[in-house]
Amino acid sequence: MKVGFIGLGHMGAPMSSNVLAAGHDLVVHDARPDAAAGLLAVGASWAGSPGEAGADRDVVVTMLPGPSQVEDVLLGPGGLLAGLAAGATWIDMSTSVPAVADKVRARAAPAGVAVLDAPVAGGITGATAGALQIFVGAATEDYRRMRPLLEVMGDPERILHVGAHGAGYTVKLMLNLLWFANVTLAAEALTIGVRAGVDVATLRRSLLTSAAASHFLEHDVLSVLERGDFDDSFALALACKDLGLAVDLARQTGVPAEMSAMVEQIYRRARAQYGDKGGQLLPMKLLEDLTATPLRLPEPPE
Ligand code: NAD
Repeated sequence: MKVGFIGLGHMGAPMSSNVLAAGHDLVVHDARPDAAAGLLAVGASWAGSPGEAGADRDVVVTMLPGPSQVEDVLLGPGGLLAGLAAGATWIDMSTSVPAVADKVRARAAPAGVAVLDAPVAGGITGATAGALQIFVGAATEDYRRMRPLLEVMGDPERILHVGAHGAGYTVKLMLNLLWFANVTLAAEALTIGVRAGVDVATLRRSLLTSAAASHFLEHDVLSVLERGDFDDSFALALACKDLGLAVDLARQTGVPAEMSAMVEQIYRRARAQYGDKGGQLLPMKLLEDLTATPLRLPEPPE
């Protein structure tokens, strides 16, 4: 297939690399031309603009920070939509919102261009291994047609068609909302327990065998507990973007979401404190710093 890929950051670089490795003809574009160096070295071609990345392509994937960049790339000057021919497909794998894709689709449909939202979970590790979880919002026929390409980037067992246009974005935002809530609440529970005199290893082990166990406590928290690593593979700026979009969705759907709003504020505090590029687990450090209680497991014996 002739594939275009726009957005070669933490996620887009390994994802597009898997597309190329699967034997597809690949054209790439990014606002930072140096982001393409590794891909060009192994056979991809460079496009000078999003529109150029769309010319002559069967399908173009975008993996951009969020809604404003997606809108710029699709509808801005030299934009992708104008470059796509009738019969082509645009797949947005960014964590974004239905509203922008709806705006694009209103123009894409009459031009004969299909649109899918297919945001992902699994981080850089999943992107590199071609084992991402993918939530697809699309017409069934477009989903079936694009599934082989998605399987190059995702785990076939976890590529889910979750509904019509926009449903993929919604599922992804709810996943992140719940995960970030896990981070903030686990930080509080662990810090309170440790300051009350229970060591962090015992506390975690006890929680893991209880009804309060979670994937976060079992896996993700270990980078902080074992290494003091707050995971900058996903930046606080993106986490705040996702939480803002989730809270917007609560507002649009008329759902009172006090907890979600509070999680968003905690993340915004961490971003103000540690910067846009800081890691997604830094809300845990906020509490560590405030209470002078580092959450670390003892070093394993030599
Ligand atoms: P990133 O910031 O590392 O990469 C984004 C890329 O888009 C950059 O290379 C940037 O130069 C490029 N870009 C920005 N604006 C552009 C424009 N106008 N034209 C062309 N290129 C432009 O972000 P990321 O971590 O790769 O995340 C990408 C998307 O995937 C986000 O929506 C994020 O929420 C989502 N996501 C990230 C992870 C993760 O672990 N990093 C996991 C799941 C989902």
